[in-house]
Amino acid sequence: MERIHLTKFIIITGGVVSSIGKGITSASMGRILRSYGLNVAAIKIDPYLNWDSGTLNPYQHGEVFVTNDGMETDLDLGHYERYLDVELPGISNITTGKVYESVIAKERAGDFLGACVQVIPHITDEIKEMIKITANQDDYDVVLIELGGTVGDIESQPFLEALRQLRNDEGSKNVMFVHVTFIPYLDAAGEFKTKPTQHSTKELRSVGINPDIIVCRSQEPIDDDLKAKIAHFCDVDKDAVVNTPDAGTIYEVPLVLEENNVGKVIVDRLGLDVNPDSSKLAQWRSIVKSLKIEDPVVRIGIVGKYVELEDAYISIRESLLHAAADIGVKAEIVYINSDVDENDKEAMDSFYWELMKLHGILIPGGFGERGVEGKLLAVDYAIEENIPLFGICLGMQSMVIQFARRNGYPNANSSEFDKNNSHPVIDMMEEQKKIKNMGGTMRLGSYDCKIIEGTKTFDAYQETDIEERHRHRFEFNNEYRDCLQDIYVKNENKGIIISGTSPDDFLVEIIELPDHPWAIGCQFHPEFKSRPNRPHPLFKSFVDAAYGYSKNWWNPFK
Ligand code: GLN
Repeated sequence: MERIHLTKFIIITGGVVSSIGKGITSASMGRILRSYGLNVAAIKIDPYLNWDSGTLNPYQHGEVFVTNDGMETDLDLGHYERYLDVELPGISNITTGKVYESVIAKERAGDFLGACVQVIPHITDEIKEMIKITANQDDYDVVLIELGGTVGDIESQPFLEALRQLRNDEGSKNVMFVHVTFIPYLDAAGEFKTKPTQHSTKELRSVGINPDIIVCRSQEPIDDDLKAKIAHFCDVDKDAVVNTPDAGTIYEVPLVLEENNVGKVIVDRLGLDVNPDSSKLAQWRSIVKSLKIEDPVVRIGIVGKYVELEDAYISIRESLLHAAADIGVKAEIVYINSDVDENDKEAMDSFYWELMKLHGILIPGGFGERGVEGKLLAVDYAIEENIPLFGICLGMQSMVIQFARRNGYPNANSSEFDKNNSHPVIDMMEEQKKIKNMGGTMRLGSYDCKIIEGTKTFDAYQETDIEERHRHRFEFNNEYRDCLQDIYVKNENKGIIISGTSPDDFLVEIIELPDHPWAIGCQFHPEFKSRPNRPHPLFKSFVDAAYGYSKNWWNPFK
């Protein structure tokens, strides 16, 4: 494919172990370059065979991040969007599944004119093509490409080969490599060990890639002698060995990299036409300062079933932190398992004890029946105790179900959990059922929404026309719209408030519970659009309400 704009590429690989924060490192380098005024995009390559992240278990891979255009992607795209403050297209997440699907489709169409289809050149060409399609979406100055997994994984090999070729295709002045490794500390020896880093760099060089920068992750800072040793054994410049010890907040990483002159090393290496002036990170620095506020503390509980792995709710966690920092409070996030057994008295006591400690309750999304009962109980508790309550997707659906159960429909449910229920207040819309026959059933990606003035939702957004990202099959059932809205107690309307709908008024997108200081549920996922510099209005309003609640909170620990 012809290139339109001269884009430079920074390729990030990982060594030694996984989960060392390659995504944050990549996003942080992107943040630095964005602060210099460059137009930056990011690509995540996931070498697994799945076509997308949609079917991956959140326990293993963490949250599924949804892009504006409705792709279900790896959570690293969330880091990129938050750090770079951009909206990335779904094609920014390349998987082995997508690459092979495309190559096989071309083979079936006869595009290869009888050639034997092989990993090199056909798969590697396809990988480069996919990278270039993303790079051509805009006049990007820099595209970051993060390769998931660690060097040496069998699945990564075609990608490493394609990335090596990319350097030749684009010219080595335009492509650089960053290798992120881990430096373990051995208690028994009382020292840090560089050998794993030497080995993984050697592995990388064996496929023809020499790193330009080595980012060494470690639990504690490493000294200059150790960096010099790594530079020597791994054949990189001394100033290109950078240490990022565990940080107080992940948003500090751009500042740590900048202190180590990473911005300047990149600018010099790629010949970028900008001044690598660290004062340009001033805004980011002040956000990091706000994120480190220690008090007052606002305690928010996330009541869901994927609580064992914090990454399963990563965008929600980050959105709460952004909102809290902006308000000037510290959000302490408590994860509460919603998979409760109502017959287990001890477990129920500890479930309610956890709820009692909170200043705000957030019910996140989810699929399947397991864990729903706990969500419904938490909704009920928040209604009874007037605790700020924020329901997202299945959380909003749980609010509707519980409200209906409390107001004349004791058996109300979602048809996701009970197909034959007599009161399916949450149901699949006819349109959705039709899509099912064509293979896909989800409402995915960005949709317009109209906010009704005079509601708490409008107070939060301060505008009527918004766009938010969806990922669900079921909807508020319109057959229950009137009866749930028109509930009168002593001539006063105590019905559910519909505060946001699709522009044609057909789909209920946001609800509020009456007679409650703050109880809002939205069918979409606002967490995908929060940024540290632009907290999402609903999160901000929720944390603000929780802060208000905390001031008059009865302290059960006294
Ligand atoms: N399972 C529900 C649905 O499909 C909610 C999905 C979600 O919370 N993301 O509608």
